[in-house]
Amino acid sequence: MEKAKCVIIGSGPAGYTAAIYVARANLQPVLYQGPQPGGQLMITPTIENYPGFADAIDPFTLLNAMCEQAKKYGADIREGIVKEVKFEKNNNLITIDDGSQITAQCVIIATGASAKFLGLPSEKQFMGKGVSACATCDGFFFRGKTVAVVGGGDTACEEALYLANLCPKVYMIVRKPFLRASQILQDRVKNNPNITILFEHVTQEIVGNEKVEGVKLLYQNEKMVDLPIDGLFIAIGHHPNTQMFGSQLPLDADGYFIKEKLDKANGIFVAGDCSEPHYKQAVIAAGEGCKSALDAIEFLKQ
Ligand code: NDP
Repeated sequence: MEKAKCVIIGSGPAGYTAAIYVARANLQPVLYQGPQPGGQLMITPTIENYPGFADAIDPFTLLNAMCEQAKKYGADIREGIVKEVKFEKNNNLITIDDGSQITAQCVIIATGASAKFLGLPSEKQFMGKGVSACATCDGFFFRGKTVAVVGGGDTACEEALYLANLCPKVYMIVRKPFLRASQILQDRVKNNPNITILFEHVTQEIVGNEKVEGVKLLYQNEKMVDLPIDGLFIAIGHHPNTQMFGSQLPLDADGYFIKEKLDKANGIFVAGDCSEPHYKQAVIAAGEGCKSALDAIEFLKQ
């Protein structure tokens, strides 16, 4: 059985930063990239608020640079999805989706978060036929068409702005009478002539035959509105990717790791969006990755 001192699960800013630090301590971490190498950030159109880049940087360039930096210092970056971890002090058993196994003295979990969906039956029916959770991935297919974005946070605003470069009409469907997004993004969407914000509208149903043709919205809890659209982008937040660990590690009601309840002496560390319900920022995730690595280095020294 292959043995490692430290296995890192996840390849967003948290995982890669942890890998850089553990590798620079000469502890040869093994990092499994998971289903989406680079993590959630890879589906964002552009990054404007990661310190150090006066001009916006694209996610591939940033995450690839982090990956190469980790490799340069000796991190073993592997494709592969961790399927199971059996936690046992100094001998954690990790199973990968190709069936291989590895043991690790300590584990850093940086599995991030995944997009939430509305939960409507029609959402599943039209997935890939006009319903999407990623404007950067799928926006191109809707060039020149009418689309809508559900949500009023930073993600929804970024998606709407991205789509407004491709589509003459972009609706934002927002359930509250205000946006939750940061002010700079709110100003941009409000000033974009291609974007119309529909406040206090709740998506009830997605309609169409072969593909999306419209949505039924409930306005102010009383009036039904039919909105003809060609595509619907869901941007209503994320849930942490922690389901695999629930029975073994402490999670809160929303599924986030409760860091305070993890005993550092056991050699299990968590970092990034999987343990951060509020400050979901790349720079925070990177900082958390650093902290988890310093704790892991300390653990391995003992
Ligand atoms: P948020 O949780 O911030 O926002 C989710 C939005 O979706 C809210 O408007 C919420 O409405 C709405 N919503 C939630 N559930 C539903 C539902 N069932 N039906 C309709 N609307 C719903 O998620 P984001 O993904 O936007 O952002 C997550 C985190 O990532 C935030 O901390 C954000 O700041 C950060 N981020 C930062 C970026 C940047 O700095 N450039 C870019 C993208 C994300 P309500 O307000 O009513 O709850």
